[in-house]
Amino acid sequence: MASAVMPTYARAPVTFAKGEGCRLIDTEGRRYLDFGAGIAVCGLGHAHPALIEALTRQANTLWHTSNLYRVEGQEKVAAKLAALSFGDVVFFANSGAESNECSIKLARRYHASRGNPDKWRILAFEGSFHGRTLATLAAAGNPKNLQGFGPVVTGFDHAPYGDLATAEALLGSETAAILVEPIQGEGGIRVPPPDFLKGLRALADRHGALLMFDEVQCGLARSGRLFAHERFGVVPDVMSLAKTLGGGFPVAACVATARAASGMTAGSHASTFGGNLLAMAVASAVLDIVAEPSFLASVARKGETLAGGLDALVNRHPRVFEQRRGVGLMQGLRCAVPQDEAVDRLRDAGLIVVPAQDKVIRLIPPLIVEEPEIDEALLILESVARSMPAKAA
Ligand SMILES: *Cc1c(COP(=O)(O)O)cnc(C)c1O
Repeated sequence: MASAVMPTYARAPVTFAKGEGCRLIDTEGRRYLDFGAGIAVCGLGHAHPALIEALTRQANTLWHTSNLYRVEGQEKVAAKLAALSFGDVVFFANSGAESNECSIKLARRYHASRGNPDKWRILAFEGSFHGRTLATLAAAGNPKNLQGFGPVVTGFDHAPYGDLATAEALLGSETAAILVEPIQGEGGIRVPPPDFLKGLRALADRHGALLMFDEVQCGLARSGRLFAHERFGVVPDVMSLAKTLGGGFPVAACVATARAASGMTAGSHASTFGGNLLAMAVASAVLDIVAEPSFLASVARKGETLAGGLDALVNRHPRVFEQRRGVGLMQGLRCAVPQDEAVDRLRDAGLIVVPAQDKVIRLIPPLIVEEPEIDEALLILESVARSMPAKAA
């Protein structure tokens, strides 16, 4: 029978029925090691007791009231995010795209409210992913994702990722903000050169532009630091979060300094579901766990184990996997063989990974993954690498 679901996804032929920690179980009863975590969403794995507790307790009390009224959970989560970051204030949304949409609107409004309505352009970077709304598609500028959806929202300029000189050349008096992923996810787990983000901070300051980090994928402990930008010693004015924030419950946040958010006054922006009571209950529980210094240290340590194992794999099978990239539990393998085939073979062998651009497969396990599970994943990778017809030398 034809599916009634709009066919916008090329889905793998598998249906998962249950999840436990880092394991997924499909409808046939087969077990998989999940190194995709629902695309870096299930940071605490599947069926984490603290999240089940938080969600069911709230579900038994009150689900939704709207933003016409005060929502205690929002006050609590915003205060936690502000205490943990450079930010002072938070807008809650439901998806990464929406949190970036808030960043973009905030930047334009910041300058407009200071009498500079002509300062509205945003500098962004090639290979980025910021979501699938019309503005966030324009922000990333990926021609494939924009095809047939024209006219493209105007006001976005693009420099190659990591290229400060081109970024500088594109900045002008009309630039309102720079929007960048501190580590690119969908683009293929790309870590920028050491001085890139620092350079962007200096350029933004020189031009009176805001610096806005999209930490939807790299944020919330995935890099081994609570926020990926901490690794680079650079502080932005605005940061978007989503994915891990709800551990699988849809929730997102746009975190900003009071100054950057000064244009966002009552009535300027809104969301019906944003900061819903259920979402806040879960986000609060997620933050309590991922922000613990011992949790962050464990992610960094396990990331090193995974990276070391992947480096050895690349050394042994350079004609299957030609490069490892990434930090913490945000690792990528660039394939010398067809990427889709590698993903399918790994899944058949019991390991779930996620494809990205640039022929990269992402290894983005739940942050609660244990060392033996990392060893198990490396063994599966090794056996699949051996079985793959390698690219001719
Ligand atoms: C996933 C992602 C988004 C989009 O998030 P949605 O929840 O799908 O809208 C935006 N930016 C980055 C860096 C992402 O990884």
